[in-house]
Amino acid sequence: MPRDYYEVLGVSRDATAQEVKKAYRKLALEHHPDRNPDDPQAETKFKEAAEAYEVLSDENKRGIYDRLGHEGLRGRGFDPNFTDVSDIFSAFSEIFGFRDFFGFGGGARGRQQRIQRGADLEVRLALDFMEAAHGAQKEVTVTRNVHCDTCTGTGLREGASTQTCSTCGGRGQVIQQQGFLRIRTTCPACRGAGSRVEATDRCPECGGSGRQRQRDTIKVTVPSGVDSGMQLRLLGKGEVGDPGAPPGNLYVTIGVQPHSLFKRDGLGTYCQIPVPYPTMCLGGQISVPTIHGEEALDVSRGTESGKVVTLRGKGIQAPHRRGAPGDHYVQLVVDVPKSLTEEREELLRQLAELEGSDVREKGFWKKLFG
Ligand SMILES: [Zn+2]
Ligand SMILES: [Zn+2]
Repeated sequence: MPRDYYEVLGVSRDATAQEVKKAYRKLALEHHPDRNPDDPQAETKFKEAAEAYEVLSDENKRGIYDRLGHEGLRGRGFDPNFTDVSDIFSAFSEIFGFRDFFGFGGGARGRQQRIQRGADLEVRLALDFMEAAHGAQKEVTVTRNVHCDTCTGTGLREGASTQTCSTCGGRGQVIQQQGFLRIRTTCPACRGAGSRVEATDRCPECGGSGRQRQRDTIKVTVPSGVDSGMQLRLLGKGEVGDPGAPPGNLYVTIGVQPHSLFKRDGLGTYCQIPVPYPTMCLGGQISVPTIHGEEALDVSRGTESGKVVTLRGKGIQAPHRRGAPGDHYVQLVVDVPKSLTEEREELLRQLAELEGSDVREKGFWKKLFG
């Protein structure tokens, strides 16, 4: 069981967004694995803090967590997918700005960094019902900016290197005097990077941007239990940014197609099964479909049409097998045959007579019109 998120960040349950952010920033810097090379716990703590922040900084997720805890989040498909530290770096730079993170300890703090991280991309992924229920390996195609093949993203001609910006002397900022006022602004020559590339040193292929446009096929591992509207985040699979900046993320929005037999509500699945009248009356065993295959089901004697039987745990497994799977609900309804053999009709008529039920005479319509 993961630790309480408020406890992880060391904030009270009514902490403001600002307090949450501040607490996370402090913890992330403290447990940064690069700063704690001898502490194997640092990385775990770093990830734990990132997960807690991810939830508590999001009003929606925080609301669910407050009401329903960790289980509630998982039931809604939330999956903290910070699988490695570099993912957290890129998320961290999104939150606090690229320089804020990489600049700590150095003299860069306070320097305005305007180099752009890569843009996020969004694609839609249509899944059939079973793929969404069980998970699937899929592919999506995106057209995106990737690193230039020729310069591998540096934007430099072979053998060339970046020069310290002469306008700002590498500080990334310039001070402008306006009367008595001294105004500090981002260096217009290097856009705050502190370095620049001479026109003649630019990569001839990409003109110095370090990027090229490309159509890519990207593998997507869809966990079981996803539902329409959920988004999977593929960290760093968006567009590349300026040289030195982190890439954007790829968001895959799920759309699930309906199934001819099954319906679902969260992790629960539902289907309606016609059962022969004699079985409903006398009881017996039938075979019912679930998303995992056929299951034998005992129909008890005197079952009413419309009765719903619950098969525990036979619904959908929560993403990444966290928490209990959903249940499968089978509604049993009387199977009314569309056509009858002579023999069956005769038996039904006998039964009707026995019960004193009014039934239409045999050949009624024929007699009427014939
Ligand atoms: Zn290039
Ligand atoms: Zn400059």
